[in-house]
Amino acid sequence: MNILIAEDDLTSRSMLAAVLKKAGHEITATVNGVEALAVLEQPGAPRLAILDWMMPEMDGLEVVRRIRAKSSPQPPYLIMLTAKGEKADIIAGLDAGADDYLAKPFDTGELRARVEVGRRIVELQEALFESREILAHQASHDTLTGLLNRRAILERLHEECARAARHGSLVAIGICDIDHFKQVNDTHGHQVGDDVLIGLAQLLTQGVRPYDAVGRMGGEEFLVVAPMEAGIDPLSLFQRLCTRIADHAIGTRGGHLRVTASFGIACAGTTPTEALLAAADHALYQAKSQGRNRVAADDSLPRQPFPERSGAERP
Ligand code: GH3
Ligand code: MG
Ligand code: MG
Ligand code: MG
Repeated sequence: MNILIAEDDLTSRSMLAAVLKKAGHEITATVNGVEALAVLEQPGAPRLAILDWMMPEMDGLEVVRRIRAKSSPQPPYLIMLTAKGEKADIIAGLDAGADDYLAKPFDTGELRARVEVGRRIVELQEALFESREILAHQASHDTLTGLLNRRAILERLHEECARAARHGSLVAIGICDIDHFKQVNDTHGHQVGDDVLIGLAQLLTQGVRPYDAVGRMGGEEFLVVAPMEAGIDPLSLFQRLCTRIADHAIGTRGGHLRVTASFGIACAGTTPTEALLAAADHALYQAKSQGRNRVAADDSLPRQPFPERSGAERP
């Protein structure tokens, strides 16, 4: 692993580097605390550092304090190197956030062993971090399509509505429901139906702007959340998506298939999200009853944002 050494004394620094290189590690060497801190704050910084206590410009204890003052999802493992063998100093170092310490002059066997302990802890931490990331992704994404799941897209909708209310902008939403999807399953089988859902998810994701969000509400129903500047008509975005779906044959394990979808859209500045969803749902019902493969907009909601509220009232 890559290890940072911060040590102003040339002899000690060279010995540390030689022992650790021999043990198979890569070394980044620095000669004072300021340099060491700069290296540790870079992205992709070494995950283990050996810091001399007494150094010019910034001592090792201060480096430890500054690193620990920042909350990092993957904090480095810090070993203090000290000529101070006093118990009180060792306690001060550990209290400041050092994980371990090594007294100078150090024993090479002990150095290797303590670094090995650090490496094990860093690796455990990395594995934990990765599984936490995977779990967080699973908790917010739909397994079939990879889109945001119902909970996550609704959370996003709440966030965008809050932002729109603060900034006096708008949020447009579109509920997209595949037309006669039951027939796809009945004719081609459930697995082909699944492939259609995956393909449709891609068509939607690739058809929206980077700051829009798409999620799967459940079954063959999707939600698109699109923040809008006041004065822009949201209809064109959803019209484009609707046409895009109708024009693209989706590749499935049963060959290429064409499906259409209906969109119910609503747009508002300060309407509660539940009312916005209900309005879009109502519009979807209209799109279906008017013949499907179309976009219907709900007109019951005010499209213009309410007048700017004063700063004190803002959430
Ligand atoms: P409409 O145009 O009125 O929306 O008709 P529809 O057939 O699309 O609507 P309906 O609600 O009758 O049927 C939805 C179908 O979606 C029924 C269900 O089996 C299917 N479905 C829901 N979730 C999944 C899924 O994860 N995979 C597959 N393959 N089918 C699904
Ligand atoms: Mg020193
Ligand atoms: Mg449906
Ligand atoms: Mg449907």
